[in-house]
Amino acid sequence: MAKNFYITTPIFYPNAKLHMGHAYTVTICDILARAQKLQGKETYLLTGADENTGKILKVVEEQGQTVEEYLNQVTLNFKDLYSKLGISYDQFIKTSDKETHWPGAQALWKKLVETGDIYKATYSGLYCVGCETFYTEKDLVEGKCPVHLTVPEKIEEENYFFKLSKYTQIIKEKIESNELLIVPQTRKNEIVALLDRGLEDISFSRPIKNVPHGIPVPGDPSQVIYVWCDALVNYISALGYGRNTELFEKFWPANVHVIGKDILRFHAAIWPAMLLSAGLPLQKSLLVHGLITSGGHKMSKTLGNVIDPYELIEEYGFEAVRYYLAREVSPFEDGDLTKERFKESYNANLANGIGNLTSRIMKMAQDNLDAPVSIAEREDMSQYFAFYDSFEISKAADFVWNEIKSLDQYIQENQPFKVVKTDKEAGQKMIGELVVRLYSVARMLNPILPETSEKIKALIKENKTPEVPLFVRKD
Ligand SMILES: [Zn+2]
Repeated sequence: MAKNFYITTPIFYPNAKLHMGHAYTVTICDILARAQKLQGKETYLLTGADENTGKILKVVEEQGQTVEEYLNQVTLNFKDLYSKLGISYDQFIKTSDKETHWPGAQALWKKLVETGDIYKATYSGLYCVGCETFYTEKDLVEGKCPVHLTVPEKIEEENYFFKLSKYTQIIKEKIESNELLIVPQTRKNEIVALLDRGLEDISFSRPIKNVPHGIPVPGDPSQVIYVWCDALVNYISALGYGRNTELFEKFWPANVHVIGKDILRFHAAIWPAMLLSAGLPLQKSLLVHGLITSGGHKMSKTLGNVIDPYELIEEYGFEAVRYYLAREVSPFEDGDLTKERFKESYNANLANGIGNLTSRIMKMAQDNLDAPVSIAEREDMSQYFAFYDSFEISKAADFVWNEIKSLDQYIQENQPFKVVKTDKEAGQKMIGELVVRLYSVARMLNPILPETSEKIKALIKENKTPEVPLFVRKD
């Protein structure tokens, strides 16, 4: 089994306000990384921001802030959210970073040029200045930009293009054979259907006069690299591609890029084509997660159903949020989150469930055992970890909570607290076995509830019941 595990979030748009979607993506990445680390792998979790985005930066400048100040503030916001969620990431990459990111993007560009996959052509299209985006006729609503409701300009400009079309067949083969694994199957089918329709070459640069924030095209300062050879390259530039290859050699190819379904095509078609063109191995897999809805609808201000991750963390603690996202949301489909469901699930599975179970077992142990139970650390957990290897996070969580339930049932049926009064030895043996099984639960909880996992292990080592409940019931 390979020793290293490299996992990435997408680079996020530098939004001022972070929402549940950000919290979800980064939390499942953190859980998957921790699960691999627990199996003895060296892990690397990359996250970051997609900063060369003219749209947002234009607004910032109009509001009189410098772009750098704004981006630094956004980075701090992300880091604050990550720290509040207990995310253990290895690097936050900023695509405006000229030292870390730009050399990688430019090095990859040069590789594509060497292969002969970059060519110059005239691009003509319908352009909305407000969106800084080209639209096709069918994107428009009654001939107008769907966002601004203005008539786009027809403009022509010189662009560099990438021969994406050349790679259609080979990418399709790699996806069909699972050499590039796309999970879930529905997303794989979707991309295979798209590849069946064929890929067209895509614009890879823009004139610098139209796009001031971006990475200059090597050898042509009149053009900047446009989106693909900038944003997607973060996954390798962060590892030092184009600068220093130590990390790159250690961790590339990525085990998994975790993405939302809106960026599937970029990651399942454009990025693999670029890697093939550069002679680099493809990422091993794509985990395409769904949206977090609320009450069955996309969260929106207008509907008033937006749930703020900070508020939940404040009220319930970060592990409650991690728990919900891990267990109550399937990593493969849209998942629903309402305040009512959150509270219900918190009370049933954390306050009761693991919280109550720990108190019960450790109270019996504290009152009836003469010494802490000694635990053999080596235990086969391959059945449990197999869920994580196939990204089945909610099933992994179910596995742990089934064990919690079965421990509760055992106590109910066998009443060791009574047995120990009439037959001390038999009672102590039962309690000792419960403690051993609770320790296994604590070990399994580590990826999802890292803090609680450590707390339970410490209680077992000291043979003590918690002074305050692990999770206080909410009314
Ligand atoms: Zn527009």
